[in-house]
This record gives sequence, C-alpha cells and structure tokens, in this order.
Amino acid sequence: MPSSSRSFDIAVVGAGICGLAHALAAARKGKRVVVIDRDAQANGASVRNFGFITVTGQQEGECWNRALRSRDIWAELSERAGIPILQRGLLTIARRPEARLVLEEFLATEMGRDCKLVEPSALSAYGDGLNGAAFAGALYSPHEVRVESREAIPLLAAYLEEQLGVTFLRQTVVHTAAPPRLDTNRGLIEAETIVVCPGDDFHTLHPERIAAYGLTRCKLHMMRARPARYDEKLPPVMSDLGLVRYLGYAERPAAAALRRRLEAEQGDQLANGIHLIVVRSADGSLVIGDSHHYAETPDPFAPESVDRLILDEYAEVFAGPLPEVSERWIGTYASAPDRLMLIDCPCDALRIVLITSGTGASTAFAIAEEVIGELYG
Ligand SMILES: Cc1cc2nc3c(=O)[nH]c(=O)nc-3n(C[C@H](O)[C@H](O)[C@H](O)COP(=O)(O)OP(=O)(O)OC[C@H]3O[C@@H](n4cnc5c(N)ncnc54)[C@H](O)[C@@H]3O)c2cc1C
Repeated sequence: MPSSSRSFDIAVVGAGICGLAHALAAARKGKRVVVIDRDAQANGASVRNFGFITVTGQQEGECWNRALRSRDIWAELSERAGIPILQRGLLTIARRPEARLVLEEFLATEMGRDCKLVEPSALSAYGDGLNGAAFAGALYSPHEVRVESREAIPLLAAYLEEQLGVTFLRQTVVHTAAPPRLDTNRGLIEAETIVVCPGDDFHTLHPERIAAYGLTRCKLHMMRARPARYDEKLPPVMSDLGLVRYLGYAERPAAAALRRRLEAEQGDQLANGIHLIVVRSADGSLVIGDSHHYAETPDPFAPESVDRLILDEYAEVFAGPLPEVSERWIGTYASAPDRLMLIDCPCDALRIVLITSGTGASTAFAIAEEVIGELYG
C-alpha cells in the first residue's frame, strides 16, 4: 500500500462485529475508514456465536432498546449486503409453572408488547417436534432475527469494503493506538480518530485502562447437530434455564422462585451456566448451546460432560431421538461483574469499546451508532 493511503479519518481496531459496526457507522457519515485486525479473517466470538439477534430477554432499558435498533440494522443489511436471515422470532418454552409465571410477568412489561403467551395445546402452530404436552406454556416473540455468523461476518466485511470503501488491513497487529498514530507490525497508520474493539484481548492495547473494569473472560460450549427430522417452521427455541440468565426475564420478581426450583432440579446445569438455545441453519442442521465458565484465561478443553448437560435439556424440550453431533467448538467473550458493555474514553479522539456480555451480535450496531454519533457530533 502506498504511504499516502495510510492516513484515514478513523481507524477501527478489531474486525469482529463490534469493529465492523463502528466501521459501518463511520462510513455512513462519509469518513475514510480503516479496519485493522491481527487475523486473516474474523475468528473470535463474532463467528462462533449463534448469530441470534436477541431482543426479548435483553435487560430492560438501554440494552433492550439497543437490541431493537440493532435488529433493524441487521434487517436492512440483509438486503444491502446479501446476508440471509435464516429464522425469525423466538419461542421461549416454560417447562414449569414457575417459568410460566416469569413469562407472564415479562408480558406485562413494555418489553412484552407484540409478544404472546402460547398454551401448550397451541404450540403446534409454531412447528412440530416439541414435547408440547409436558410444558406449562411458552412465549412467542416476533422480534428476533437469526443469521449464520460464520457467513454473515465475512459478507458484512465485503459489503463495507466493496460498497462503502472501507479499507481492511488483515494480519496486522496494532501495538499502540494513540491518535493520530497506530503502530503496527506493518508500520505506522495515521488516523484522526481511533476506536479500539479488541473483543476479549485485554492486554495488547491500553491494558491499564481495561484493567480498571475488573474484566474476566467467559468460555462457552457450542455444537452443530443434524436431527433426523426438524420442522423448518420452528423459530429459535429457548427454555427455563434461559429465564434465570437473560436479565429481561431474570429481573422479574417471579424468577426467584424459578431459580429455587432449578437449583433443586437442575443444579448441574446451573453450576455450568447452561441454558438452551437451538437455532436452525440453511442446511437443516442445528446450532445447540451453550454453557458459561469464567476465568481470566479460560482453558481450551471442552469436556463431554458439559455437552451432555446441554443435550439433556434439549431432550426435555424436543421429542424424538437426540440429533447426531457433527461439530463442536468453544468461544470466549469479555465479561464484566457490573455491566453489559463499556465505552472507555482515554482522550477526545480515542474510544475503547468492549461488549462485556453475550450480547454483541444483538447490540453492537446500536452501540456503534452512539459512539460514532458522539465522536462526530
Ligand atoms: C459461543 C458464543 C455464543 C454467543 N451467542 C450470542 C448470541 O446468540 N447473540 C449475541 O448477541 N451475542 C452472542 N455472543 C456474544 C457475541 O458473539 C460477542 O459479544 C461479540 O461477538 C463480540 O464482538 P467483538 O467484535 O467485540 O469481539 P471479537 O469477535 O472477538 O473480535 C475482536 C477482534 O479484535 C481483534 N484484535 C484484538 N486486539 C487486536 C490488536 N491489538 N490488533 C489487531 N487486532 C486485534 C481480534 O483479532 C478479533 O478479530 C456469543 C458469544 C459466544 C462466544
């Protein structure tokens, strides 16, 4: 690259969803944008997740509003960048009466607008294959969209590069980022403004700023499986265990009684941070997860016992034999004790943006609009 083209209005470090969202927001403001990433292609949480843009279940207020806005941007990008939307909506199963009470309380909030409670006898309208008669009810939400992240993230990057003129520097490690300079293993880059979106790398850039937030990392188990039969009509499915993890439900008063019952009946699942999410891919396979184990440096091992606990919950929710698992992986993301995301502001022209919860696919576009809006007025 000629040296004259190494100067930009804004540099974004990180080509995960958080970095791409900032590149999109800045490019839409007409800025000359460079995205810099150490890897040859996105390889972090952003391609390891469910691609599930979750609205219902996000924490009431800011997070829920950001999820709604981000969902709209995904829908718009689906057209512009050719990113297929594979599923819409969400069916949250209540296996127990205590879970149904949480869903009823949720429905009474503003977040319940457009959602509806589904009686077990009416579940078949949403697709076959569930253990419907055994449930206490379900909640249908129309708000969600699901993309295949491992395809969507490269498509989004290609759209930014080809349609919006964003420059990508791959296999480039940023060693220091202090506007207007970024020192990389491939030389100096100049940018008036810098946004650092490092995912769960807390140590390379501004480690002292990031350390102040007391972050840790979360490891998740994921599986791809091929069921003998799966109704294409079914939206993404969750169940009781999700109601004590997702804050939009878990902060409802009725969640305390559900948690007590789950502690008595599914203590192993709770101890491994398991909740069930099942989404379907274009080839008919399912992505099934997940678990949550926290450590500063998560180990790379994925014990079968954890996958078994996830599949045990699958077997409670779905009728028929367990699907054959064809692929397993782990992912990690940043986690904070007290916040879902953070925007750190070391100086006027520098922001560090970390999504410190499992909500980046669902909220990054809205966060990026806010950050870029504030930076450029
Ligand atoms: C298994 C799993 C399931 C999930 N499910 C969902 C879900 O269903 N819905 C949802 O909303 N969210 C979900 N999440 C969370 C979501 O995936 C994350 O919040 C999001 O992907 C974080 O995006 P990011 O861009 O911040 O991080 P990443 O995707 O990790 O990207 C960070 C990038 O920064 C680069 N980088 C860092 N430092 C440097 C440097 N100094 N120089 C160059 N490059 C650098 C890295 O190479 C990396 O590519 C899930 C996460 C996991 C792991």
